[in-house]
Amino acid sequence: MDISTEKIDQIASNSQPAAKPVRPRLKPIANPIAPKSTYHKMRRWIQFGCFLIFVLLPFFNIMRFDIPKQRFYFAGYELWINEFGIIFFSLLFFLYVITAASMLYGRVYCSYFCPQMIFSEASLALQDKIKRQTGKKFGKLGAKQRQWLSAAIFYSVLLIASIFLSFVFISYFVEPRDLIQRLMALDIRTYGGIAGASTTLITFLDFAFVRQRFCTTVCPYGYLQGMLGDKNTLLVEYRDAGNDCIECKKCVKVCHMGIDIRKSPYQIECIHCGECVDACVDILGRFGKDGLIHYTWGEKNELLGDKRTPWHRRIGLRDAKRVVVVLVLLFYASGLFTALSMRKNVLVRISPDRSVLYRVGEDGKIYNKFRLNLANRLGTEATLVIELQNLPDAAILLDQPVRLKPGEEVQHEFEVVSAAGALPQGVNHFLFTSHVQPGDESQTYEMTFITPTERIAR
Ligand code: SF4
Ligand code: SF4
Repeated sequence: MDISTEKIDQIASNSQPAAKPVRPRLKPIANPIAPKSTYHKMRRWIQFGCFLIFVLLPFFNIMRFDIPKQRFYFAGYELWINEFGIIFFSLLFFLYVITAASMLYGRVYCSYFCPQMIFSEASLALQDKIKRQTGKKFGKLGAKQRQWLSAAIFYSVLLIASIFLSFVFISYFVEPRDLIQRLMALDIRTYGGIAGASTTLITFLDFAFVRQRFCTTVCPYGYLQGMLGDKNTLLVEYRDAGNDCIECKKCVKVCHMGIDIRKSPYQIECIHCGECVDACVDILGRFGKDGLIHYTWGEKNELLGDKRTPWHRRIGLRDAKRVVVVLVLLFYASGLFTALSMRKNVLVRISPDRSVLYRVGEDGKIYNKFRLNLANRLGTEATLVIELQNLPDAAILLDQPVRLKPGEEVQHEFEVVSAAGALPQGVNHFLFTSHVQPGDESQTYEMTFITPTERIAR
């Protein structure tokens, strides 16, 4: 080989080893039609919103089955276990929301809203990120050491996250402030403490090892889908009429459920998340082609969002069955709304005590006895005043206003007194009107006042 003197001098004077030639980085092929599918991004935003809702619901009493207090908190209302109507309608409403969503939109709950899926994906993403960062920052360590280090960091972070998630989960059944006190006291002796510790352990094991396997083994909802879905239910489907698939398998790689959508759109593992739709659009877009995987209304049916479709079919109302399901859902929603709007903050019940029809006092006046049952469902003090209507010259013998502490339930007995001869003999119809503060709630109760007649007196 002919090397010039100049070159030899240059090499000799250079004590540094020659730098490795830098390989030019290949630019990714641009996507010429750039129809970027964004189901992944949309899922992340929805899942983030769901995470916030999941954390905040029990703190603002929007939803909690408070077991120690035997209360059901819903939409800011403190419902008592005996308020059967509202609890019945709210449970039926949620049941129907799930049924209608499954029938119309397939596994939209699993893929976009389910906490198990959200935290499983977050746990996987966290593990990948920690692995990458450890590889970057501790490159001098051996492969085995890096593996141990990233595992230690991941499990430590997951343990802290599990304590937090268990705390939020148990807040759906126990008042959060009560829970914080137990946590601060490291309580693992009482039932609450033991429940908290076991939930933390289960959460940790779930998101460390089980993750999406839960969906295909334990969760009954996936199987329920098979019964609720039909030929018009939204699903993710692979369509390749022109043999366009390049076998890149990116759709398989991105699938957290570990399946190949090209085999069938009806695989029980498929949660219709749309990640494979994004993947295929991205890959084939680089070749100037459309993706081969789509959201469709049933297999080989119309594409989701097809502008030529009438609006009602576009939102999923594709047959009479679906219209009926939505109507039933609206019925339960209006039942729930009505039950909530009719709900009283303070439960007031007035009933006559007819163990004795009337009493004639030493002063010659006539007395009738009544029972008053009160339950303050508010978190603040409430007051009650009762008035008489249509009973001239009569009075209520009760210390008014009646004060009720938050959550207090009491029973009082009181009498209504009328001067002798002020009322006609026999049965006199009248009204009680109760006024409650706060809330300015008023209610009327039809009652009777009995005075002696010759026949009764005999
Ligand atoms: S991503 Fe698209 S092109 Fe690639 S294997 Fe899947 S279906 Fe075929
Ligand atoms: S096949 Fe596609 S839609 Fe189904 S779970 Fe996997 S990535 Fe999601």
